Amino acid sequence: MPNHPGFNTRAIHVGQGPDPVTGATVPPLYLTSTYTQPEFGRHLGYEYGRGDNPTRGSLEEALASLERGVGAVAFASGMAASDAVLRSRLVPGHRVLAAEDLYGGVYRLLERVYRPQGIDTHYANLGDVQQVQDLLNRIRPSVLWLESPSNPLLQVMDLPRLARASHEVGCTLVVDNTFASPYNQNPLEMGADVVVHSTTKYIGGHSDVIGGVAIVGDAETLKTLRFIRNTTGGTLGPFEAWLTLRGLKTLGVRMQQHAANAGRVVEFLRAHPAVDQVYYPSNNPIAQQQMRTFGGMVSFTLKTDGDPLPRVKRVLERFRIFSLAESLGGVESLVGHPATMTHAALPAAERQRRGVVDSLIRLSVGIEDVQDLVDDLSQALMGAEES
Ligand SMILES: *Cc1c(COP(=O)(O)O)cnc(C)c1O
Repeated sequence: MPNHPGFNTRAIHVGQGPDPVTGATVPPLYLTSTYTQPEFGRHLGYEYGRGDNPTRGSLEEALASLERGVGAVAFASGMAASDAVLRSRLVPGHRVLAAEDLYGGVYRLLERVYRPQGIDTHYANLGDVQQVQDLLNRIRPSVLWLESPSNPLLQVMDLPRLARASHEVGCTLVVDNTFASPYNQNPLEMGADVVVHSTTKYIGGHSDVIGGVAIVGDAETLKTLRFIRNTTGGTLGPFEAWLTLRGLKTLGVRMQQHAANAGRVVEFLRAHPAVDQVYYPSNNPIAQQQMRTFGGMVSFTLKTDGDPLPRVKRVLERFRIFSLAESLGGVESLVGHPATMTHAALPAAERQRRGVVDSLIRLSVGIEDVQDLVDDLSQALMGAEES
């Protein structure tokens, strides 16, 4: 390996050398729950599958390298990773400060599991760093939890400033980097303490496997997270690790294409008479500094007078290439309606306040031929004109 291998070289090679026994070029899939010990009192570094598995280890080494961390811990899902990170920092009486446009599953975890145990979360718009500083001083949270870009309005947070503000009050900054992927930004290098991903999304990239990972900047937290995973059991299975690793190899080229296609789609939407607002981070100066590309997620609102839902329904039902589905980050394009799908759990007034209005549509722009995607959008948006 060269001294400073680039992103794609690391995605393809780190943790993935040839198998020492057979020379197999691709890391073998170790489907085993236990490991035979060569003699009494001695093992080969592997004892039991909940704790360690070589296939999972390959994935963790690669992900740690791509996020510039000291290590990675792979979990059965993004939610299992998020829960383990929260557990590593919180005991009853502690507080969390979280972005108000938090992923719905993490919101549910904080409200329905942590709050009843005496761990309260305060939600705020983290775009205003001065206000965040005031909140950090007043609330004294142990954890600041955010996503950048956020869901579904693609708001970008100033990660270096938020990291400095957190550290001034001894607070851990956790960044859910799922939307950007490690190709577009590495929050640990900007001062974050822990990065989490739902590897179900861009990292796996093919909508065929559920998984999550936490990547950390210090050895102590790494040890704690490995301990929590082994103790609570939310381990990523070897087959899931193998599939995720297979997806990971092409993350860089996929992200380039996602961003190129999303850029074209944004151009098209901005010029379309039925479209009101278009949300994409490309014009944001913080995003221009922090991100390599602006990713594949695009949101927009339809122009409406009166109830937007009939119009939204007509548009959504006309799509032929974009699938109406939850999730994101796969090679195939998806379309979703945040108000009734990903953000349905929020009260209507709260959704409205956060800009998750009924006319909002979210796209996960895939890597199909972009002209086909634009044509599909064009014919779907004809549904906005009918009545
Ligand atoms: C999907 C998602 C999660 C949860 O991940 P799972 O793999 O579904 O458990 C967390 N954060 C974000 C931003 C997500 O998109």
